[in-house]
Amino acid sequence: MKILLLGAGGFIGVNLTERLMKDGVHEVTAVDIQDEKISELLDTDLHFLHLDISKDEAEVDKLVAASDVVVDLVAFANPSLYVEDPVGVFDLNFTQNMKVVQQCIRHKKRLIQFSTCEVYGITAAKAMGLDSRTHPMPFSEDETPLIMGPVKNQRWIYACAKQLLERVLHGYGLRGSLEWTVIRPFNFIGPRIDFLPSEAQGNPRVFSHFMNGLLYGTPLKLVDGGTAYRAYTYIDDAVDCMVRIIENPEKCKNQIINIGTPDNEVTIKEFCDICVEVFNTEFRQPGDPTPEIVSVTGEEFYGPGYEDCDRRIPVVTKARGLGWTSKHDMRSTILHTMKYFVEKHRAKQARGEV
Ligand code: NAD
Ligand code: UDP
Repeated sequence: MKILLLGAGGFIGVNLTERLMKDGVHEVTAVDIQDEKISELLDTDLHFLHLDISKDEAEVDKLVAASDVVVDLVAFANPSLYVEDPVGVFDLNFTQNMKVVQQCIRHKKRLIQFSTCEVYGITAAKAMGLDSRTHPMPFSEDETPLIMGPVKNQRWIYACAKQLLERVLHGYGLRGSLEWTVIRPFNFIGPRIDFLPSEAQGNPRVFSHFMNGLLYGTPLKLVDGGTAYRAYTYIDDAVDCMVRIIENPEKCKNQIINIGTPDNEVTIKEFCDICVEVFNTEFRQPGDPTPEIVSVTGEEFYGPGYEDCDRRIPVVTKARGLGWTSKHDMRSTILHTMKYFVEKHRAKQARGEV
């Protein structure tokens, strides 16, 4: 199969590209505007192109025409950006991605579109004023209503843009003009998730903040006490499911598929405790800092317009129907992810760079 990966230079993209190159079964073309992460793979046979889906339409169109399946990972996928630049998030995550949809329709190509578990929004429990701790409500692809907070909480622009894209794909599927699959990832973590804050601009996802604290001594901040829940999936497990989706077009035709690990559900406070325990037990060396753990409000951390998702439990019957199951529990997910970042940090220490 000729696979075109758009956004291949990001966290999921690099890990998926690496697995596909290792398998050696398919021909992969990888596209991104950045190459810092994917540069580790550039000495393989990988065909990588620096292209921007917004500006290099003609080049991307030719690549779509030459492929069998297009996997679109391009997005702004960082909660602090949803609050700071909601219009920019809508433009990339909906308007620019729609160009790829049109190219797939024109060339009659299958499209695997990355969406998000965030399209589920808040739980029905929270919307009804119930406590989601005592009312767990798992999120099912074709059954669960999608409930967003008010417009003044611009965090929801990301989920709305992704949701609208899903609805448009569904509409084209009904017309018979597009074969699509939507993937809704539930909090993947693993090597290359984000650069640490001290290495790059921006506000990364929670693991990177905690890793940064453990290596550099910045406080571990629990937003609203860390009471929100997330269910984490190790990236290798997630990639395994993606490969099954790529290789099972008939079963996945015009389907939305959750990828997640309900057994790995924790509160962010519990996630923080496991990070500290794993670091102290497996990686701590003399001279490493001991960061304090503090509670901050969502507004202090992200600015006005933030609202958290209270709880996200995936229903994974469809993914299991592909013969897939997650192999890593919560501790081993954190252990393997941390190993990557700690080894990079120790190498820098050895070179005298930190
Ligand atoms: P990421 O930010 O690491 O990767 C996105 C990639 O898109 C980046 O490498 C970026 O350079 C690239 N990109 C941005 N604009 C581009 C453009 N104009 N042209 C070409 N490339 C461009 O994010 P990720 O974590 O790898 O997520 C990939 C997809 O999965 C996204 O659609 C995201 O919304 C979705 N998702 C991820 C998670 C998760 O747990 N990581 C959860 C929910 C949804
Ligand atoms: N969070 C936190 N401390 C941080 C960063 C995030 O407590 O340093 C919280 C955030 O408010 C949310 C959860 O951790 O409840 C996951 O945030 P992340 O940005 O990783 O991903 P999300 O699942 O919200 O997209």
